[in-house]
Amino acid sequence: MNGRVALVTGGARGIGRAIALKLASLGADVAVLDAGALETTEQTAAEIRALGVKACAVRCDITDADQVAAAVKQVKDELGGVDILVNNAGITRDKLALRMSPEDFDAVINVNLKGTFLMIRALYADFMRKRYGRIVNIASIAGLMGNAGQANYAASKAGVVGLTKTIARELASRGVTCNAVAPGFIETPMTANMNQDALEAASKTIPVGRMGKPEDVAAAVAFLVGDDAGYITGAVLNVDGGFFMR
Ligand code: NDP
Repeated sequence: MNGRVALVTGGARGIGRAIALKLASLGADVAVLDAGALETTEQTAAEIRALGVKACAVRCDITDADQVAAAVKQVKDELGGVDILVNNAGITRDKLALRMSPEDFDAVINVNLKGTFLMIRALYADFMRKRYGRIVNIASIAGLMGNAGQANYAASKAGVVGLTKTIARELASRGVTCNAVAPGFIETPMTANMNQDALEAASKTIPVGRMGKPEDVAAAVAFLVGDDAGYITGAVLNVDGGFFMR
């Protein structure tokens, strides 16, 4: 991936950080975009630079179209353009639907679905002009099979799958691919905040016999954004240890 520039949202920690480091290890320059403290995002960027490629840290809330436009401009100014977009930033606000407030619903849809759309929209014309681009959206098996307590999250991730397939169709003839990766249960700060009893019970039913690691997801993303995957678009690749088989 030498000479390519990747932008990873939610790249400061968890799965996004693993993706950013993996793409850097394959030679890509990487923009790490995150809504959290710039200091943490800069730490990940520094780890990337230590691998011998360029990196920049960008503070941006992907739900805000103006911030997204400014962030994309910053990345283009610092790294010269974007070839690979990984939409990884995501949040949960879990509750049974009965107790879920409209605000909890909107917040999750806004980050996971609208934020993903805004990022794609901000780079769409560039990808078309270049006749090259790789987009990977991080969905979830919750969006494919549903999950009690996650009406907002599952709906947002099902939406990400529909968005992925639509963008894949719109841009296929322009040399741009758009795919989704649907992780199962992955060890990150997000799952550390979940009900640990429920998580342990679910883990026991994973055929591979363990929870996934951020690096398992990063490997799938690296494949889909690589040159060998140019004929794969509109696909949803599960990285879940066999938890959800269709
Ligand atoms: P984490 O909560 O560990 O990391 C998410 C990152 O996204 C954080 O750095 C967070 O920043 C950032 N972020 C949140 N909201 C925004 C925003 N509005 N704009 C920009 N950045 C934002 O999550 P994971 O690493 O576990 O998850 C990464 C992705 O993988 C998510 O899309 C998630 O839904 C998906 N996924 C995770 C699974 C798992 O088991 N962990 C399973 C299936 C899917 P901040 O510091 O501000 O919070």
